[in-house]
Amino acid sequence: MVGCVTPWNEGVDMSVTRRLTSVCSVVAVLAGLTTSVAHAQPAKVPVATGTGGAVATVDTNATEAGLEVLRAGGNAVDAAVAAAAVLGVTEPFSCGIGGGGFMVIYRADQGKVTTIDHREISPAAMRPDSFWEDDAPLPFAEARYSGMSAGVPGTVAGWASALRKHGTMGLDKVLQPAIRVAHDGFTVDQTFADQTQGNVDFFDDVPSSAELFLDPDGTPKDVGTTFRNPDLARTYERIAHLGTKGFYRGAVASAMVEAVQNPPVSEDANHAWRPGVMTTKDVRAYTSPEREPTRVSYRGLDVYGMAPPSSGGSTTGEALNILGGYDLSEMDRAEALHYYLESARYSFADRNAYLADPEHFDVPLRGLLSPEFAAERRALIGETASNPPVVEPGDPYPHDGGAGAGEASATVTRAGTTTHLTVGDDDGNVVSYTFTIESTGGNGIVVPGFGFLLNNELTDFNYSSLTHPNRVDGDKRPRSSMNPTIVLRNGEPYLAVGSPGGATIITTVLQILVDRLDLGATLPQAVAAPRATQLNTPSTIAEPEFIDSPEAAAMRERGHTFTSTSEIGAATGIEFLDDGRLMAVAEPTRRGGGSAGVVTPG
Ligand code: GLU
Repeated sequence: MVGCVTPWNEGVDMSVTRRLTSVCSVVAVLAGLTTSVAHAQPAKVPVATGTGGAVATVDTNATEAGLEVLRAGGNAVDAAVAAAAVLGVTEPFSCGIGGGGFMVIYRADQGKVTTIDHREISPAAMRPDSFWEDDAPLPFAEARYSGMSAGVPGTVAGWASALRKHGTMGLDKVLQPAIRVAHDGFTVDQTFADQTQGNVDFFDDVPSSAELFLDPDGTPKDVGTTFRNPDLARTYERIAHLGTKGFYRGAVASAMVEAVQNPPVSEDANHAWRPGVMTTKDVRAYTSPEREPTRVSYRGLDVYGMAPPSSGGSTTGEALNILGGYDLSEMDRAEALHYYLESARYSFADRNAYLADPEHFDVPLRGLLSPEFAAERRALIGETASNPPVVEPGDPYPHDGGAGAGEASATVTRAGTTTHLTVGDDDGNVVSYTFTIESTGGNGIVVPGFGFLLNNELTDFNYSSLTHPNRVDGDKRPRSSMNPTIVLRNGEPYLAVGSPGGATIITTVLQILVDRLDLGATLPQAVAAPRATQLNTPSTIAEPEFIDSPEAAAMRERGHTFTSTSEIGAATGIEFLDDGRLMAVAEPTRRGGGSAGVVTPG
């Protein structure tokens, strides 16, 4: 019963009573006790430093669940899955068992980084023109809010495989905190209400979605009220009891397939919800492969990321390889950020052309990550912004052991949702984990009776192209931008970081690394810094605070132009400090701010 008697995070201004209530409830559940304790929601703390393990997520309940699993003797993988399962309850529009993700894991006992790919996969019957009608691709909203956009979810398989191979506890244990939060509920905040609002016009077409997320008058749940999801609690209990079979076979699998093939919309729905082609065979066939991470060397550090089908590791890696040729720490900030944007521009041109599911397209990963290819790209970068601003992809194949360029095509980028969490444990294991249901609210369909939204991940294919490497096909994983990253220094964990934000995930991670590793920022400063993102687009998208900064003024002199967007990213990270302590860092304000915690503060 540790945790019930010992306050944690002393020195932080928050209610010890409320904190302990929540800690006790989680510990009670982990201990297998049945007493029901009302769930309280403590204040969010964006930075925590101490020992014994650290967790950073966007949500206090999730961070607490991770800490409690660490306290109960679990390792970083156990804690990451526990925290993720809570996020599936409290951040249902961003992530959950209806979606997929990528987990990057550092195993201290093996001194090795590995990854679990649990990206959604398309049903076998999908075709390049599955999102086409009348010889034209569907508009995004029509493609998204449909049965067709849902890939076979990977989250449950990913959690199970991560626990089995790298954890110490089973799903039966680590799902308990999430079951408790789903039963007892949590307090609706402004971010939750805003995310609901953006979907109201579609949720109210689907009775199962409306019933869960809307009040009877059709408006979002009021801020300050308690949100409960007993259906999801039961689904988690089923998975806790049956393992992956509780999801990929039987009632849940059948209900998902039914919801995809016959979207459960009401008669007075004011949109057309196109059916999809997922079958129970597709669901049953899902696998979550363990893949080698990407790795590049940067300033003597080893930076590990997610390999294809994510473009995160390769694109950040290529940009770092380009930046490795400049002494950014000797430059003023505006000059350094100019090279940051240019490296991202060229890397995105290559990402847009060459990244796709490696089972379907021969991704020239070695070429993209080779120092020689980076040197070729760097040679095109000058002291002013690239003109024209949209650059052509390079040819990585000669550096890949092959020859001949793949088909080049730019990809439209869309802002989205998603969540990232980071965990480090006492033994030095690290988890950097990003998972998602793609858009905020996924495909809009809550699987009737089971309490979770389906993803719309298949709109991450370049579905308007019938020939692009990332076109739609059957049994294929759409290219992702998710970028869970772990940095080792002399073979020991140093940093872990990641973010939501669609394609901007990649530049958010890159900018944080540059700020932290080159420009003298602390990790909290790097996570909070105003952002700019260059995705090989005519104008650089940036937050207002960045646009108003002296750096942006200096960069305009170099020919950069900026387009404003309210927020980019909402990162979390962990730094292993020189004195042996851990620092957990969450976003301080974006998306309502995140939550950092350590097992023993100090
Ligand atoms: N579906 C996106 C991806 O895999 C993540 C969602 C988002 O953050 O926009 O890259």
